[in-house]
Amino acid sequence: MIFELAKIQQGISKFRFQLTAAELELDYCKEAFTEAIVFSGQTNRSGDEIIVKGTVATKMKVQCSRCLKPFYYELAADVEFVVKTQDKGPDNVIVWDEDYVIVDHYGTLDTASLLRDLILLELPLHPLCDQNCKGLCPICGKNLNEGPCSCEREDIPSVWGPLERIKEEKITKKIEVKDGSTKKKTLKSAE
Ligand SMILES: [Zn+2]
Ligand SMILES: [Zn+2]
Repeated sequence: MIFELAKIQQGISKFRFQLTAAELELDYCKEAFTEAIVFSGQTNRSGDEIIVKGTVATKMKVQCSRCLKPFYYELAADVEFVVKTQDKGPDNVIVWDEDYVIVDHYGTLDTASLLRDLILLELPLHPLCDQNCKGLCPICGKNLNEGPCSCEREDIPSVWGPLERIKEEKITKKIEVKDGSTKKKTLKSAE
């Protein structure tokens, strides 16, 4: 995920990096990353300006927060930023908070921390094997997706319902804004 800027050609070029959780310093939860993390997309160079557009995607093994069953979750996040190269520019100085990154013509740009932040933002806080997962019986512990149990209980409304709706609204808003500014704001507020 290190771009050597002098080697990026004018016009559009495709790229594809395959990374491990350890390379992105996500090894504390490496068991969850059962497949390689793929960062792919294209660079579009016009003189000293390079627009990088792509996706970081992987498949993770997570546990359903209602029924506790492990399942695979497909994680994907859009990546978009602009690099400006200039003479005597700060080599390897990365200013992700600004609208663009300035790097020396012959410098390199390491995207590891950006990709790491984007993945952390996309991690499901309350993963569900299915939106309609019935969860476990609070009395006998039976997985109610496999059928009803004989316990007598009153149906208690899920405390997660309102939170899930808020999260869905946020995700929809994020997708609507395509200029990348939303992502940066979210990154800041997550600190
Ligand atoms: Zn479930
Ligand atoms: Zn039961």
